[in-house]
Parts: sequence; structure tokens; C-alpha cells
Amino acid sequence: MAFEGLTRDIQSAPFFDAAARDILLVKRCDACGHVCNFEKYTCTVCCSGELSVTEAVGTGTIETWTATALSKDFTAVVAIVELDEGPWIIGRVSGLGSDELSHGMRVAVEFDRIGSGEPVPIFVRSPTERPTAG
Ligand SMILES: [Zn+2]
Repeated sequence: MAFEGLTRDIQSAPFFDAAARDILLVKRCDACGHVCNFEKYTCTVCCSGELSVTEAVGTGTIETWTATALSKDFTAVVAIVELDEGPWIIGRVSGLGSDELSHGMRVAVEFDRIGSGEPVPIFVRSPTERPTAG
């Protein structure tokens, strides 16, 4: 099974242009200050449609995760990460096995392309996260 990767449209183009520069975009509500995922058009707290695009710091904590064997040689670890700004996003975890993850573990966003698709957020161990003893 081949996965073709993501393609852009006019709404997602700014997100992918930023991702190509290793920047994760989110949106901040001009009315209440709540931060939403980029794909939102209205604030998830106050329903205002006045959202400004802003850059996320690019770090967060793992909420939960799962591992799926995509082939006999590759198991994808996918996590829901709470960004430091608040939104939860889903992304593959790179360089860590599912048995190395824990709730609240610090991770940092990087970007990866599948085939010729657009760069998508993935997560790696945060440079500030120290391996646990044992
Ligand atoms: Zn709001």
C-alpha cells in the first residue's frame, strides 16, 4: 500500500509554506486570546471568526499515543500532543518506540514529507527532555 502524502489547497497553503520553513502555524482568537489549530475558522471557545495566524513555539507534551504496524518492517507511533499554546494535534513520533513514551513527556515538532507530499508535523524527543533513568 502506497501512501501518497498530503496535497495543499488554497486554505492550507500558508500552513504548508510555513512548514517548509520548519514553522508550525496556529491561530489565535482576536476576541478571547484562545489558540486553535490552524484549520479552525472559528474560535473553539467563544465562536468568534476573528482569528489571527501565529507561529507556535513548536514544543508540547504527549497526551496519548498508539503504535500501528504498517508493514513487517515498520511500526508507526502516532501521538496526540498538547502544544504549549494549548491546541492538541496528531502526529507521528520519530525516533522513539511506543514503550519509550509517557503521558506528559516533552516533545518538539519537526516536519517530514511522505513522497512528494507537503511537509507534515511529526514529533521527536524535546532537546530539553532527559532520558529517564533505568
Ligand atoms: Zn475566542
